[in-house]
Amino acid sequence: MTDNAALEALALLEADTSLEAARPILALAADYLTGTRLGEGPVSTWHSAEVIAGRLQESMPRRSRPLADVARRLSSLLLEDVNRLAHPMYIGHQVSAPLPAAVWTDALISALNQSMAVREMSPSFTPLEHQVVEWMTDLLGWDSRAGGTMTSGGTEATFTALLAARRRAIPDVWSRGMGATPPVLVCGEHAHYAVARAAGNMGLGMERVVTVRSEAHRLSVPALRDTLAALRSRGERVMAVVATAGCTATGAFDDLDAVADACAEFGDRGEPLWLHVDAAHGGAALLSPTHAHRVRGIARARSVAWDPHKTLLLPLAAGLLLMREEHDLDAAFSQQAPYLFTPNDDARAWDMGPRSFQCSRRADVLKLWVAFERYGADALAALYDRLCRMAQTLHARLADHALFTPLHEPESNILCFAWNVPGVSPEERDALTNALRERYNRSGRGWITATALDGQRVLRITVMNARTDVSHIDALVDGLEAEAAYVLKHHR
Ligand SMILES: *Cc1c(COP(=O)(O)O)cnc(C)c1O
Repeated sequence: MTDNAALEALALLEADTSLEAARPILALAADYLTGTRLGEGPVSTWHSAEVIAGRLQESMPRRSRPLADVARRLSSLLLEDVNRLAHPMYIGHQVSAPLPAAVWTDALISALNQSMAVREMSPSFTPLEHQVVEWMTDLLGWDSRAGGTMTSGGTEATFTALLAARRRAIPDVWSRGMGATPPVLVCGEHAHYAVARAAGNMGLGMERVVTVRSEAHRLSVPALRDTLAALRSRGERVMAVVATAGCTATGAFDDLDAVADACAEFGDRGEPLWLHVDAAHGGAALLSPTHAHRVRGIARARSVAWDPHKTLLLPLAAGLLLMREEHDLDAAFSQQAPYLFTPNDDARAWDMGPRSFQCSRRADVLKLWVAFERYGADALAALYDRLCRMAQTLHARLADHALFTPLHEPESNILCFAWNVPGVSPEERDALTNALRERYNRSGRGWITATALDGQRVLRITVMNARTDVSHIDALVDGLEAEAAYVLKHHR
């Protein structure tokens, strides 16, 4: 192609740089955020993936269109069928109705495109990430030896923490691999699959993951002690114990203090076992005077995963890995890359790349910083409390409901509940529960999730939207009652 074509393309780019040019796209976001406030209109779509895919079938565009036209097409082709997480009746997965100030900041992060790999690529945001990490490690009660990094989420944070634990257990693992008798990893049966996946990813193997049974959906500490004692008597080494603060299915918090006691008792080489706390979901409890007691003992962890894109209501992606001792994180990766990482003579190692699984990485720290600057930590804590109160409200509504039974006290913003259908087999009951959820979600009146709990298919809500209030919880119960009557009539 001629340089003329490139110059014409450049003219298009230049035309798109003004706020006026951006308006059609930004207006879609603003209209969405304001238009969902009153909870009118459908929450989701009833169209199948095939129907939507059919609508999108076209060959790759070879010619330009005005940005305003693209915005119109985008709107008519796609936006009708999104899940409206900002709609107060969306009470589904653990993904937030995001904080608006953080949403707008996302465009700025992209515009500036500072890569967090090395300080020279992000001269102001690298120090900012260190500062925000310090806010969080201070909150944990850790001292100046602490550190950490932002991650793509809890999966990466837990994976990286376990790489650091692996390095401590096997000092030459980077060059020689795991060896013939790798250590084991211990976690609760309700741990997120990120833990098992980390074991698979790092070549530890699933057989080296020892799962401890739960009691009331929390890691059973007596069972943990029995497990650690049995491992010790067999001469097995433990790489790390993983506890969960806000487990995925029920939002329950493991007793971190008691788990840390067990880690201290069964330690080796004069040190407690490495305790990793997966607080991807429940980390926000740290900010809340009402909920802080649920994470008591978290400071005794050696590593903590915490997802601001969950209960701090940031847009995806914003994850955090916090380390009680930053040098543990530096040891996790022993990467040499002379074209990127230069030996550091600074008193402080600023570059984040050597401590991260990622190389190029967005400066997501900026939207986290903006969220704190704009709303303040107290408001974010108040919002977390409110999300949790809505789960408690549903729990109270269902306390003596004829159809639905809550299955646990909500410890965070999650509640699982069962639909009691009399006189059907467990298989039929599971199928009816799936049908009820499917029908309710397709109706547009709301959106919830389902999970398996103690071998039973159950309904589940996660309140991730500060707009959801008591009236919406009432509407959820009304909606489920109505759809349950329909499902019963048509499934028999
Ligand atoms: C969500 C979640 C994860 C996974 O985090 P991602 O951000 O989705 O990668 C891990 N553990 C727990 C407890 C979670 O709730």
